[in-house]
Amino acid sequence: MARLTLLVIVPHPDDETFGSGGTLLSLLARGDACGVLTLTQGEAGKTLGLCDTKADLSVLRQEELRACLDVLGVLTHPDSVHEQHHYPDGAVAAHRAEVTQVIQDALNRHRPEIILTFPPDGLNGHPDHVATHQVVKSVWDELPVESRPTLWYYALNREWLDDPSPLHLQPNRVHDVSAFITQKLRAMGCHRSQGLTLANTLRRFPERVTHEPFYEVVAGRD
Ligand SMILES: [Zn+2]
Repeated sequence: MARLTLLVIVPHPDDETFGSGGTLLSLLARGDACGVLTLTQGEAGKTLGLCDTKADLSVLRQEELRACLDVLGVLTHPDSVHEQHHYPDGAVAAHRAEVTQVIQDALNRHRPEIILTFPPDGLNGHPDHVATHQVVKSVWDELPVESRPTLWYYALNREWLDDPSPLHLQPNRVHDVSAFITQKLRAMGCHRSQGLTLANTLRRFPERVTHEPFYEVVAGRD
C-alpha cells in the first residue's frame, strides 16, 4: 500500500474542507496519496430544514462528504483513502480508548508523512475538536521520535480573533492555495446542510479560503 503524504484526522464531515481543502487539492494534483479520517457522521449538526431526524442528517452528511471528497480528488486518486467511523457526534471524548486504537491503526496502516488535526483549543472550543486533538497528540507523543510523522494543526491568525483562547497557537506555515480556489469552493459547497456554519466561517475568516494557515508542532517544545 502506498504511503500517504497527508492524513487529515477530524471528527466531523466538513472539518476537512475549509481549512485544508486547498492543501489536499494541491498534494493530490501532484500525484501524492492523501487520506481523510472522519470520526463521526455529524448527526448533531444543524439540519436547516433539509431533513427531520438525526438518522436522516447522518445519511445526508455522508452523501455531502462523499461529494466533497470526490471534488477534492480523495476518492478518485487510486491510493488515497477515506476512513469513516461512527462515534457519536458530540461525544468523541466518551470513546477515547477506542478512538486511540483507531488512530494508532490508521497510522500503522497508512504511514502518513504528515498528520493534520485540530489544535489544543479545538480552533473554536468544540468538545469533539478538542478530544480529537488530545487523542492524536497522545498517540503521536508515544511514537518513537524517529518514526513520528510531521504533525500539523489547523490554526487561525491571532488578529482574526476577538478573544483568543489561552491555548491559541499562532500559525507558523501558510499555504497559498489560490490556484485551486475553484475546486475548493465547489468542495465547500457540497456541505449544503452546514451552510450556516460555512457562511459564518466565510464572514469571519475569508483569508482562509485562499491561504490555509497551520501550526507545525516542534518536537520537544510543544
Ligand atoms: Zn467540526
